[in-house]
Formats: sequence, C-alpha cells, structure tokens
Amino acid sequence: MKPLIVQKYGGATLADPEKIKSVSARVAHQSKENSLIVVVSAMGKTTNSLIDLANQVSAHPQRREMDMLLTVGERISMSLVSMALNDLGCPAISFTGSQAGIFTDDSHVNAFIKDVKPFRLEEALKDNKVVILAGFQGVSPLTKEITTLGRGGSDTSAVAMAAAFNAERCEILKDVPAVFTADPNIVKSARPLQELNYDQLMEMTYWGAKVLHYRSVELAKQRNVTLYIGPASNKTSDGTLVKKGLNMFESCKALSLNSHELVLGIHCAEKNPAKALRDLQNLFNEKQIPFPQLLHCEMTTDSTEIFLTGPQEGVQAIKKELASQAGFKLIPTDFSTVTVTCTGATSPEMAQKVLDFMADKKLHAQKLMLSAMSVTVLVEASTRKQVIESLHQLI
Ligand code: ASP
Ligand code: MG
Repeated sequence: MKPLIVQKYGGATLADPEKIKSVSARVAHQSKENSLIVVVSAMGKTTNSLIDLANQVSAHPQRREMDMLLTVGERISMSLVSMALNDLGCPAISFTGSQAGIFTDDSHVNAFIKDVKPFRLEEALKDNKVVILAGFQGVSPLTKEITTLGRGGSDTSAVAMAAAFNAERCEILKDVPAVFTADPNIVKSARPLQELNYDQLMEMTYWGAKVLHYRSVELAKQRNVTLYIGPASNKTSDGTLVKKGLNMFESCKALSLNSHELVLGIHCAEKNPAKALRDLQNLFNEKQIPFPQLLHCEMTTDSTEIFLTGPQEGVQAIKKELASQAGFKLIPTDFSTVTVTCTGATSPEMAQKVLDFMADKKLHAQKLMLSAMSVTVLVEASTRKQVIESLHQLI
C-alpha cells in the first residue's frame, strides 16, 4: 500500500495555465510513490475578482449567493488540474466539497466543518486515481445548501481530509516556501522556521500570519494531523514541519512576528458590552457582512470600545456601513496589531523588551495585549512596518 498524503496547492501556485501544468507534473511524479488527495484553491486572485463582481451588482450581496459564486473559483482549478493530470497519463478525478462529503453547519460564508464522509474519494483512490478536491467548500446536510469556509479556508478542507483518511501528513504547498520569522516582504532578513508545535502556529495565525487558515491549525491539533508547509516547486529541502513533542526546555524566546494590517476601533454608545456586541452582530447580519475577528473590548462607564479585524473586503464593508449608523462611531485612526509569538510569556521580560525596542525608535504603542504565548501591541497602521522591522531584532 502506498502512503496517503494530502497536498494543498495555494492560489498563487495555480495562477495561470503554465503553473497549473507544472503543479500537475509535480503531482504526477509524486503519485508514483504516494496515494494523493490534492486540494486546490482558486487560481491567483480569482476569489477577489468574484467578490468585486458581486459588489458591482449589489450593495449587500446575500451570503448564500456569495457562496454559490465563490465556490466556482475552486471548481475551475480542480477541473483544470484533473485535465492536465490525465493528459500526463496520470488518472485523476475532481470533486466538489459536497461530492466529497464535506458536511458543514448551515451558516454561509464562514461555515464550520461538522463531518466528513468521503465515500467517493475512497472509491477513486481504490481505483488508483489521484483525487483532486475543490478546497474552501462544503454542503449543509440540513439546508442542502453549498457553503464556504471563510477566506483562506482551503487549508481547513485539506486538514479535514487528512484527518478523515488518517493520512501520513498534510502538506500545504505555496509560493512562500515556509513559515518565516516575519513577512519576508517587510523584513529582508526574515528566516524560515524549521519546526513548530501546534500551539505556536495557532498563536501566529490567530494574530494575523496569513501562511495558514487559523482553523486549519486548530483542527490539525485536535486531530493530530502532521502539517508541512513548503514550496510548491520541486525543491524538497526547506519548509516548516508542525507536529507535537518538540525537543525543548523552558526559555524566554521570541519566535516570530505577525500582524493584523487593518484593525478597526468602534465606539459604541451602549455601556453594556454584551449588548453592544450583540447590536453590532445584528447589524452585520442584517447587512450580510460576515462577523469579523474580535480582538479587544474596553468598557467605560457610559460606552464600549470594540476592536476587530478580518479579511480586507469585510473590514472595508464595515467601515462603509458604520459611517451612517447611529449608536456606533468609527474611531478615525486605522490601527494594526504587531505580535511577538514567544515562549516564556508569563515573565515580564518579553513585554519589557518589546516596549524598549519601540521606545528606542520613538514608536508608540496604544495598547499592550498579553496572552500565554504572545505579546501584542496595538499601533497606528501608518507605523506598522517600522514596528515590525524594529521588533524583528528581538528574534
Ligand atoms: N480561494 C479562497 C480564498 O481566496 C479560499 C482559499 O484560497 O483558501 O479565500
Ligand atoms: Mg485563494
């Protein structure tokens, strides 16, 4: 029996026909030694273009219709990859999320996977075919509707399949060939990290690392799926391995820097914070805006301040919407968070270092937020890159 590997190819690695052919050649080659389930994202910036299209025909596109529209992106990739593989003499067959038995809850645009019953995939693998699976999508068994898993959700499709099949490992293959100490586009000296545990990577993705969908790491931890983040080219050496049981003792050490580029502060006239949050959620529901990621909440005697972030298009939609809403006022400054993921965060050392390094460069932190594995500063968005560059000296 050949070992079963789940591979996920990101949108950038499938951006044009040439890239699709080169990914297919790589898959065909690897299928000689492995059984493969290949999860694909939409080609290049297809998902963004589809969202633009929706916004051109509707002020508040319904979430159900958004799912019908966005799932098309991954269907294009899956069928093209399958065609290219068959041309190379490598038998392959593509499936949508619903054909593959990815069952989700009945929400739209950010649905959660509840179960995986991949009967058709089992049959195809038994027939020695490479399975190509459209990422980012499923079906609700309750409503029979097609659903999507949130921006970047193909990673979560891949991990769910790896868990369902108890695969050897789940490989997330990208044009950025590893998890880095910081965004290499901002910090030229950023280094690839060879090994991480699940908690470290969860913390990084929670605080904005785009390298993986947060939920995919959470699921991998729950189901003990070994993750490998590596290059989609044929280089096999570099990459980051994520598994449990790394060989280390206690330390106070900075591991990586991550950032949420755009964080909004919302001033709510409501002093009961639970009610403020509920009112905000109701507003987003009514306007068909997916609820973003909450980062921080501050209560004063007569109001509540809520800080949140999310995918670019969601945050922009919120900005637009709040301009005309009584009861909510957008704090005019755009914020960012910058987070140092570290070990030893319970000692004050890391927080002190972060604040010292920033003071050295005359950079101002609006808030300091602490957790078990990270030190986060809220800063003005215009200073984000400088903060990242200066804090990278810690690593
Ligand atoms: N194509 C979707 C997106 O861009 C899903 C994914 O890439 O994982 O968000
Ligand atoms: Mg994509």
